[in-house]
Amino acid sequence: MSVVISEILQRAADGGRISEEEALLLYTEAPFHALGEAADNVRRTRYPEGIVTYLIDRNINYTNVCVTACKFCAFYRAPKHAEGWSHDTEEILRRCGEAVDLGATQVMLQGGHHPDYGVDYYVNLFSSVKKAYPQLVIHSIGPSEILHMAKVSGVSIEDAVVAIKAAGLDSIAGAGAEMLPDRPRKAIAPLKESGARWLEVMEVAHGVGIESTATMMMGTGETNAERIEHMRMIRDVQDKTGGFRAFIPWTYQPENNHLKGRTQATSLEYLRLIAVARLFFHNVNHLQASWLTTGKDVGQLALHMGVDDLGSIMLEENVISSAGAKHRSNLHDLIQLIRTAGRIPAQRDTLYRHLAVHWTPEDDPTDDRVTSHFSSIVNRQLPLVSAKS
Ligand code: SF4
Repeated sequence: MSVVISEILQRAADGGRISEEEALLLYTEAPFHALGEAADNVRRTRYPEGIVTYLIDRNINYTNVCVTACKFCAFYRAPKHAEGWSHDTEEILRRCGEAVDLGATQVMLQGGHHPDYGVDYYVNLFSSVKKAYPQLVIHSIGPSEILHMAKVSGVSIEDAVVAIKAAGLDSIAGAGAEMLPDRPRKAIAPLKESGARWLEVMEVAHGVGIESTATMMMGTGETNAERIEHMRMIRDVQDKTGGFRAFIPWTYQPENNHLKGRTQATSLEYLRLIAVARLFFHNVNHLQASWLTTGKDVGQLALHMGVDDLGSIMLEENVISSAGAKHRSNLHDLIQLIRTAGRIPAQRDTLYRHLAVHWTPEDDPTDDRVTSHFSSIVNRQLPLVSAKS
């Protein structure tokens, strides 16, 4: 390993800031094990108790009708298409009720850019869910939907955000980030807003008190430098707002869409990206592995590359699975996956507060990492639920 790479890794492992150029050098040239070790060191410093969190939520798609026609999307149907559908509020509330019964703490409402859905539609949707299920956190939609509703209603981004926040939206999903740099974004989603505009919406939302996550979809033909540029664009906004709670990279699923000739990112590329993300985002608290797109085995390996969260037991997911993601998990499997990686599983809420830590002194009598901090919530019994599409 070169002295330069060694010095960058050490600085990053110690919590220091690295530049975009240094991150690219690590991504392309750092030895795999040294990269993972440095990232895991950051994870260990941040979360010394060794807990890996997960969330129970339900992803509810309210419509697949969309005017934006992203080339990578296998979920949408154009307006008037025979296979287009929209769920009414009653159906959405019924699904929210099922989610609550299965132990969900969060609902993720996502859908296409329906030509008739302006701010009023979302205000009605969120206020109806909040009224019926005040215990459910609404972590939903993304900047693309906000821009769309603002355009349909002829209002500013800020007016739209303030209205949906008042109606009950708690936080914004990092959806729709795809690749933020112009060249790869135009290649896969020519009608979608620019990356700069996506970030502008996040900045406005953070400014009025709505936090969010940030995602990245890799594997559609972008360069290594563009992957790192995507992360730098997010970090620049985070420097200003501090509103991103987590970074969630995931791999493009290539089935049933119009993006010909593109490949998925390999597991190695994904794991290297995960490690570099942990080192690069010194100002973002959480790093999530996407077992839904990469599979549970790669998700487990990511726990040794800096990841502290495995995201959601999704009770319903249609968008990614439409494009070929076949991976499914249930609560029991996910807990075992975390345990066998040598970590302590804990259910979290949207704010990453621990709700239940699955640990007993019988597991390891010498391990006192958890009891002193979490004695009131350890081993709370949770229902075992299956993910279904
Ligand atoms: S990714 Fe979203 S905005 Fe793009 S076509 Fe699919 S539903 Fe529409």
